[in-house]
Amino acid sequence: MLTPKRIHALPLQLANQIAAGEVIERPASVIKELVENSLDASATEIDVTIEGSGSQLIQVRDNGSGIHPDDLCLALSRHATSKISSSDQLSQISSLGFRGEALPSISSVSNLSLISRQHDSECGWQIHHEEEEPEPVVHPEGTTVAVRDLFFNLPARRRFLRSARTEQQQILTTMQRLALSRFDVRFQCQLNGQQKLNLPIAESESQQLARIGKICGQAFVKQAIAIDQQFDIITIKGWLGHVEAHRPQADQQYFFINGRIIRDRLISQIVRQAYADLIPAGRHPAYVLYMTIPLDRVDVNVHPTKHEVRFRETRLIHGLIHRAVKDQLQQQIITGPAQTPS
Ligand code: ADP
Ligand code: MG
Repeated sequence: MLTPKRIHALPLQLANQIAAGEVIERPASVIKELVENSLDASATEIDVTIEGSGSQLIQVRDNGSGIHPDDLCLALSRHATSKISSSDQLSQISSLGFRGEALPSISSVSNLSLISRQHDSECGWQIHHEEEEPEPVVHPEGTTVAVRDLFFNLPARRRFLRSARTEQQQILTTMQRLALSRFDVRFQCQLNGQQKLNLPIAESESQQLARIGKICGQAFVKQAIAIDQQFDIITIKGWLGHVEAHRPQADQQYFFINGRIIRDRLISQIVRQAYADLIPAGRHPAYVLYMTIPLDRVDVNVHPTKHEVRFRETRLIHGLIHRAVKDQLQQQIITGPAQTPS
């Protein structure tokens, strides 16, 4: 008979690597987490530099509020966050992050460097490990996180990475989603020395459409139908693709809830149903939609990557989304094409 094994706590590094398995699937996941941290720090400029499809280097630099030098170690330790402090705040989450897991996870599967400088500091402070003392370095206000040799210590995960092309495409898609989530932030992205994205702050509607054009293409923008529907609890704004601009794949569907990109199969189905037979069977609409809902009516703490949310009143919200899209499309049919800025 086998002797039953005794229980022991996992070493910290291993626990972090296991947690990393949930949130850090590939280079694009690192970018999502780092850029979301920059957005949470109220950055208005975010520069992303990638080398070798992300496995060599992912660097995200922002001009946000920075991290206090005494907190740098904490930023790299698990379940440490500046974003929530009590369980009642879990039902009022307005930041993109709150789990305090991204940086320790990334740091456990890469060589990470974190440099940050706050407004009132004379220099930046750099750290590589949570056990390390920060060192002073020259750095402008804001934060730079550099992630080198991703998955160098996890050969199994490295083997699961796809071709450089696929990983680069994923990175670009992630950057585009993030860039569509915040028009009030300038985004730049360089991949192996080549500028892939350069999106200035877009205040006016025509500037916003120019940004969307760079991401979704001019065909979408030319005929896009603006939507702005308000209900008691939610608002839905953004742009619906014209009924003639349907696509073979559901590859241009962006849905944001309170600034967070959501990938929800049910919501995609609902929007598709609202287009009904205005587009041919088997084809997909394109859209960029922004929904706002009071924070306490939506639960974002469903999945570690936070791509899914749960509504308190699912049927009601789904019904409103359907109605908003359908009404706007109907109106378009009655009044003819909207004037889009040239
Ligand atoms: P979370 O975002 O869930 O709080 P993270 O591990 O992503 O957890 O980050 C830990 C903490 O480090 C954050 O709560 C924040 O205080 C700080 N931080 C991380 N990135 C930045 C950044 N770019 N600017 C300012 N603070 C940051
Ligand atoms: Mg975070």
